[in-house]
Amino acid sequence: MSTAELLAKSESLIRNYRQPPLVMVRGAGRRIFDAEGKSYLDFAGGIAVLSVGHAHPKLAKRIAEQAATLMHASNLFYSDVALQYAERLTRICGFDRVYFCNSGTEANEAMFKLGRRYFYEKGEKNRTQVISTINGFHGRTLGALALTGQPKYHAGFAPMIPGVSHVEYGNIAAIVNATTADTAAIILEPIQAEGGIIVAPEGYLQAVREHCDKTGVLLLLDEVQTGFGRTGRFLGAEWSGVKADAISLAKGIGGGFPLGAMLIREKVAAALPTGSHGSTFGGNPLACAAGLAVLDILEEEDLIANTVKVGAWLKEALQSVAHDHADCVAEVRGQGLLLGLRMQPGFDAVAAVAALRGEGLLASVAGGDVVRLAPALNVTVAECEEAISLLRKVLPTLKFASA
Ligand SMILES: *Cc1c(COP(=O)(O)O)cnc(C)c1O
Repeated sequence: MSTAELLAKSESLIRNYRQPPLVMVRGAGRRIFDAEGKSYLDFAGGIAVLSVGHAHPKLAKRIAEQAATLMHASNLFYSDVALQYAERLTRICGFDRVYFCNSGTEANEAMFKLGRRYFYEKGEKNRTQVISTINGFHGRTLGALALTGQPKYHAGFAPMIPGVSHVEYGNIAAIVNATTADTAAIILEPIQAEGGIIVAPEGYLQAVREHCDKTGVLLLLDEVQTGFGRTGRFLGAEWSGVKADAISLAKGIGGGFPLGAMLIREKVAAALPTGSHGSTFGGNPLACAAGLAVLDILEEEDLIANTVKVGAWLKEALQSVAHDHADCVAEVRGQGLLLGLRMQPGFDAVAAVAALRGEGLLASVAGGDVVRLAPALNVTVAECEEAISLLRKVLPTLKFASA
């Protein structure tokens, strides 16, 4: 079908997204192809999801085999695949137990419920308040949305569920001041990713951990975007040596298959007793087979080492791009293969991403003024060189529009 014929059908979708008029039909490695056959170097990475690239043969084969074996059994029973994946994932993350779901939002909903129910089970029934951060992003369902510290996502959906306050990210004093006898949990991201690739300042996560240890408040880390090797460690919080009481994972862990997880320490395991939480699809054999295959690929292809190596190369190259185009690029941010170019005021990140797409490079916008690059963890230096030369070609063509 032609692009025009396909686009005519877009009237059947609700208008919540703002896709450009192109239709993706196929992917291979770090490239994706539209219905016209045009190829794009994919540094949007499906929003930091395509950890092993498009159509990885091992992942595709494992999913196909599992689909032909057992796709869904429901949580009325265990499944062989979910048990194997639970053991592997908890071990590699250094946590004790896992709850499987289908998205990052759901994993954060589970953490929010865990935070409240933990104190309820302990008989501290007034401890229901959660501290989150301004500019943080935790998802779009009403619980996760209440945690999300970006008012633009709240518009029209009031009232938010009560009991959530937002404090400045990176500021430990703000957390200490906001903590009361009723505080149950603190939730934040090791890097505010959707918020514009804002890396936690040195010592911040350690200070939050110490504060939580002192007050008994639970530390919940949203590793949906920073997890699964994206920053050059399996978890983003490993850079600071901080271990949370629970973490959420999604995006990269399924390599494109919808999969989310909440991992917890044993000390909070009693918070979600039998019957307290659940999901029809969560942890189904097909999703867990995808998760296992992506873990296998991560280990066999040493993708974290590749992320460290290629990420360092890319960041340095971006810094030299920023230096040469200081009129339009203000700053390079990020860690590993979660990198961003913050545009100067007056240079529109959305327009920059559109211009790059026109030249065959996909990126995405974060935080309004940041061009985010989050290619697959198996991206090569040669592909990064190609991305850099496209950036160098496109940046001089961007127009200044008063801020
Ligand atoms: C993407 C994202 C979410 C939401 O995940 P969904 O799978 O879209 O529900 C939550 N938290 C962070 C940090 C994210 O990057």
